[in-house]
Amino acid sequence: MTETISAEPYSPDPITPVLTANWGDDRAWKITNYERRGGYKALRTALQQPQGDLVQLVKDSQLRGRGGAGFPTGNKWGFLPDNGAPRYLVVNADESEPGACKDMPLMMASPHTLVEGIAISSYAFNAHYAFIYVRGEVLHVIRRLQQAVREAYSAGYLGRNMLGMGYDLEVIVHAGAGAYICGEETALLDSLEGRRGQPRLKPPFPAVAGLYGSPTVINNVESISTIPSIVAGGADWFTSMGVDNGKGMGIFSLSGHVRNPGQIEVPLGTTLRQLLDITGGIREGHQLKFWTPGGSSSPIFTAEHLDTPLDYDSVAKAGSMLGTRSLQIFDETTSVVRAVTRWLEFYKHESCGKCTPCREGTWWLVQILKRIEAGQGQEGDVEKLLDICDNVGGKSFCALGDAAVTPINSAIKHFRDEFEAGYHTPAWELFPYEKNVIY
Ligand code: NAD
Ligand code: SF4
Repeated sequence: MTETISAEPYSPDPITPVLTANWGDDRAWKITNYERRGGYKALRTALQQPQGDLVQLVKDSQLRGRGGAGFPTGNKWGFLPDNGAPRYLVVNADESEPGACKDMPLMMASPHTLVEGIAISSYAFNAHYAFIYVRGEVLHVIRRLQQAVREAYSAGYLGRNMLGMGYDLEVIVHAGAGAYICGEETALLDSLEGRRGQPRLKPPFPAVAGLYGSPTVINNVESISTIPSIVAGGADWFTSMGVDNGKGMGIFSLSGHVRNPGQIEVPLGTTLRQLLDITGGIREGHQLKFWTPGGSSSPIFTAEHLDTPLDYDSVAKAGSMLGTRSLQIFDETTSVVRAVTRWLEFYKHESCGKCTPCREGTWWLVQILKRIEAGQGQEGDVEKLLDICDNVGGKSFCALGDAAVTPINSAIKHFRDEFEAGYHTPAWELFPYEKNVIY
């Protein structure tokens, strides 16, 4: 099913940006420019408040985790046991979901928003060490973060006796080595501890037993970057944006067949139709065919979901999860078989190999998808795909197995005929526009 979307001329974002407010500033990443816009004032305010009040503020703001799962941030902070062990903050900056591109631009444009958020959050739940675990391939982001952390130390916002107010905090930027699975929080912890990154059994959750077995808060870059604005604006301001059970604003990344790919910050609950209206729509002369609300790990949506509010509950009701808000848009020139095959090759490559359903299942799924893509599918291949998906989803050790089968199940639900056409016709004949695309 396809739908034409009116391509309005590009007009500026109708909401007041918060996290992206300074992205257009000249050298926004420099501490002086950040301070000029009021940066680090929230830290000063926070350090004058009792720690418990800050945790309560974040609970009252109803901020939900921006990494994808939407777990209430304040509640997570409140789970830390008081057992005398050191507490840690780990920022998950390992953004690797296909289509996800919000944390990297945020850290590039405004690294001090994250650093200030780290300082406030660590103080709030009494952590004296914080780690930013950032994926190893993004050298430019790592350098930008290292520079921001150095600047913050020099200005007295980090280190011993922060701002002369008696609190100590060390911040370490740690580069991963490029494994997608290290974005899974417990694999990330193993990697940070110097081991091979593979998921741990949960529970215990990291909040109870995380880094070096100590209580650890692991939050996404965007979640932590939102904290200074909540301290500055208050819980009522934050909850005035968004919808029930999905408060505040969020950065959405639009990619694919749109006129203006990039990041856009809007209140949760905004629909794709509204986002396309704001950003200029589908590329000229083409129609929407399918899209992902949360990167490749979410089921694919079609034009019938254009008016689904993009918040946790509404997207869940429509059968997906909000996930990373990576809106990958595909028009009618795209072979859904080919798109799904590319995603599955990614999951096969990134499967950590710890459990059999995912390790073996993703390999078999790719074999079958590739022959369907080449027009050499065999009768019964679609049923075989669904059967393997059934043996991987919900039966794997971590969420990667579930994520891998999600695009296949949903693509077959919406475009079964395209898969069956692959029993006799190659995808590049059905979608000749893609013939010369080199993958
Ligand atoms: P999850 O629901 O298992 O956990 C979410 C968070 O809540 C975790 O930090 C977990 O420790 C915490 N939590 C849950 N229950 C708890 C409890 N009872 N006590 C204490 N803490 C508790 O989800 P997940 O597997 O961590 O993450 C899945 C999400 O990650 C997906 O929504 C997906 O969109 C997203 N994701 C993001 C990327 C990316 O690049 N940003 C990549 C892959 C997946
Ligand atoms: Fe590793 Fe995949 Fe099993 Fe997760 S589901 S533990 S990534 S093999």
